[in-house]
Amino acid sequence: MAVLRKLLTVLADALGDKSCFLCGAGLSGAYLREGICPGCLQKLAEEAALPCPLCGHPASGCLCGHTNLSPLHIFLDGRTWLAHTWYLPNGADRLTEKLLLTCKKKYSRTLSRHIARVMAEELSRILPPEKRKGWILTYAPRSSVGYARHGFDQCEEIVRIMGSLLEIPVQKLLVRVNGGIQKDMESAARREDNMADAFAALSVPYGCRILLFDDIITTGATMREAGQVLANAGAAAIFPVAYAKTMYTRRTPQL
Ligand SMILES: [Zn+2]
Ligand SMILES: [Zn+2]
Repeated sequence: MAVLRKLLTVLADALGDKSCFLCGAGLSGAYLREGICPGCLQKLAEEAALPCPLCGHPASGCLCGHTNLSPLHIFLDGRTWLAHTWYLPNGADRLTEKLLLTCKKKYSRTLSRHIARVMAEELSRILPPEKRKGWILTYAPRSSVGYARHGFDQCEEIVRIMGSLLEIPVQKLLVRVNGGIQKDMESAARREDNMADAFAALSVPYGCRILLFDDIITTGATMREAGQVLANAGAAAIFPVAYAKTMYTRRTPQL
């Protein structure tokens, strides 16, 4: 059933109309391949560049709020985790949220490619080609409920493309063990992460170094739990990477 659903989603994607996934504007030229119009690309870039209310850095430079995302503090370019842009739960401008929601609900190789390319650019800065040996790219899998409903895992799609762009091997190293509860994005920022996100490790090569991808970091509980499971299974390094992190404000409790 899941295979059939996946086939249908891939087919629908291939036959889909060629307008901007985020605003519906017609696309032409290079933007057809991107799936996003120039105006929306500009807005996404502006959201990523917004200053953190606590440290003043853009998302890719901010480390506020999540000091302990991985049980193994591995430093790459002086940092222990990376996110590309902001998720603004209460912001007026929600294009990043729209992009992430679209990716979760609608299979789109075009949007996965967009996110993968952006992430590959970020990672290239902190992990240059000569330092990539021994690293494996993996992801925090979506719940089995979410997978059954949608027929695909957006993080898996993104990571496969990231791997080919960065020439880093991709391996599925985690599974959900309790089915998981599909978190909806609206409540993501408000909810306390609970232990509904339980992972188990598949065969983890002993002593490997892992880039662990998730689409969004909210409280960090998912990354922490997945990282702990990978560390227990024998990984020597775990470096969390996300497309977006929830923007912390002075009212948001720090973890
Ligand atoms: Zn657009
Ligand atoms: Zn900050």
